[in-house]
Amino acid sequence: MIDADFLRRWLATAAAVVDREADRLTELDSPIGDADHGSNMRRGFTAAHAAVELEPPQTPGGVLILVGSQLISTVGGAAGPLYGTLLRRAGKALGDGTPATPEEFRDALRTGVEAVGKLGGAVPGDKTMLDALVPAVEALSFALDAGGGLADGLAAARIAADEGAAATVPLQARKGRASYLGARSIGHQDPGATSAALLVAALADTAA
Ligand code: ADP
Ligand code: MG
Ligand code: MG
Repeated sequence: MIDADFLRRWLATAAAVVDREADRLTELDSPIGDADHGSNMRRGFTAAHAAVELEPPQTPGGVLILVGSQLISTVGGAAGPLYGTLLRRAGKALGDGTPATPEEFRDALRTGVEAVGKLGGAVPGDKTMLDALVPAVEALSFALDAGGGLADGLAAARIAADEGAAATVPLQARKGRASYLGARSIGHQDPGATSAALLVAALADTAA
């Protein structure tokens, strides 16, 4: 079951991983962006973690909505509103209070990921965070439908997200700052797909 405590533990893990990997995310954002993705993500997740620990929401949806709001208000770059929208929409989809089943959590994540697509106008293959997020939700869904539990599903999602992020290397960016480079964006891994894989890995670690 996904309860508020599970998502607080996810957030603590995610904030630590983002902090540890911030330099790498910024390095990835250097050839095809403006070299700020790691610092953007660190600022956002540090603020979100602090806000949630200061006044812990009592429901899983409440945790996601607070984290999303913090990302929107503290991250300057494109990733802030996109991740913020994902988490706020997922949080709203979880609804009132009761712990979510793995299937409800999957449906909420899917709603959030779809909202990212609508907000940014990107589809998988455009070399964005969606290249990690969409396969992750699909892998989670497939594993749950096959009778697996949450830990199995999130372990599969982690692999799919890692593969999706790695698969952005040969792509030409069609959205975001990297798209300004045209064909010169080819040959570099997308920073947002990389951070998305880190966030999914933190979910898998929390459930393991
Ligand atoms: P900025 O580009 O404003 O500096 P960041 O560096 O924090 O913002 O985030 C860049 C990442 O945001 C990209 O690597 C990409 O994954 C993601 N991104 C950018 N635009 C879009 C979009 N329209 N849809 C989905 N993801 C996007
Ligand atoms: Mg950037
Ligand atoms: Mg920027």
